[in-house]
Amino acid sequence: MNYKVFALIVMGITFLFDTLMHYLDTKSAEREIPANVADIYDADEYKRWLAYDKECNKLSLWRHLVSYVVAFLLIGLDGYAAVVNLVGAEGLYSAAIAVIIADTVISMVWSTPFSYVANMGIEQKYGFNKMTKKTFVVDLIKETVISLGLMCGLICIVVAVHQALGNWLLIILTAVIMAFLVIMVFLQPVFTRIFNKLTPLEEGELRARLTELLEKNGCTVRQISVSDGSKRSTKANAYFGGFGKMKTIVLYDTLLEQMTEDEIIAVFAHEMGHNKHKDTIKLLGINVVNVLMIAVSLWAVVSLPEIYKDFGFDGVNYGFAFVLAGTVCMAFISPFIGLFASALSRKFEYAADKFAADNGYGEALISGLKKLAKNNFSCLTPHPVVVVLTYSHPTISQRVEYIEKCMKNK
Ligand SMILES: [Zn+2]
Repeated sequence: MNYKVFALIVMGITFLFDTLMHYLDTKSAEREIPANVADIYDADEYKRWLAYDKECNKLSLWRHLVSYVVAFLLIGLDGYAAVVNLVGAEGLYSAAIAVIIADTVISMVWSTPFSYVANMGIEQKYGFNKMTKKTFVVDLIKETVISLGLMCGLICIVVAVHQALGNWLLIILTAVIMAFLVIMVFLQPVFTRIFNKLTPLEEGELRARLTELLEKNGCTVRQISVSDGSKRSTKANAYFGGFGKMKTIVLYDTLLEQMTEDEIIAVFAHEMGHNKHKDTIKLLGINVVNVLMIAVSLWAVVSLPEIYKDFGFDGVNYGFAFVLAGTVCMAFISPFIGLFASALSRKFEYAADKFAADNGYGEALISGLKKLAKNNFSCLTPHPVVVVLTYSHPTISQRVEYIEKCMKNK
């Protein structure tokens, strides 16, 4: 069996799955709005949302098609090997890095117009975008530099370990990626600062009430910070970053502007519930499965040097191994892991909602969530199949129903 044909067939299967998800997304707008969230948009706003949803779906369908056309062409026509020959990279390291740089640059070239239209076109048209062209370009450069740096570092480790220790690669790679993930979680507040400015929440009644809630539930955090999310979008958010002593609560300035004090505290209490239940660490457990799969995929493709000939290479190319592990193996495995991970994540969301309700913020959380849904232009009627397969949060209607149940049972 030619490995290239096999790879293309696997990619074809993931393509069909992705296409089905996109198709169901386009169908979700036709579904009836559940009664408990019917008050989020008025008739005019809903009309606007429908138009917005249609434009977003159209763009994301095109993006999906182009991404697969590019991937099929690059793999089907031995594009990566052509790049390596073109730049004359001969050493194991340089040939691997050439593939990674080519892959990053090519994906930046085809995907940037889509991100540009999404942010500067659609989000701008509906009044969400606050990003200047400068922020857009600076973000793009920062993201590309960070991802290239990390990938090249990782690939050098893989080449060195595999050359020196052979099959030990599997264990060492798993350990390296795991350590890397843990460091990322610890350093997340630092990474956040590369993109956003964080300032401590100013003293006052809100801060006092938040601190009281933290103390009441025995939570310690390093800082309650406000992020300048308004620099990019009017859409609001809040999250817990880092853990242990580095733990920081980040509230978007947009959240503070759009919500009443009770609603802010309710959203905060929900985030605190995640923290109290140690959800970040539990989700890290799922990441272990992901990491193992990545390590196994990479180890499998570098252990079969004969497959590279089918893709136009003379011998093993570690950069291309990353490409195969990502676009063929992981793209195929991820939906299965995602099914499990998103079910677990939705369970955590319900538990965090219950935590906020138990602390007396059920009512405020419902109105806060509705406000968030309205201001973020959320879909009220996602297709149930898409929810089960991919949603990390229950639908807004499911959450309202659940919070009301929690308040009744209290
Ligand atoms: Zn949550």
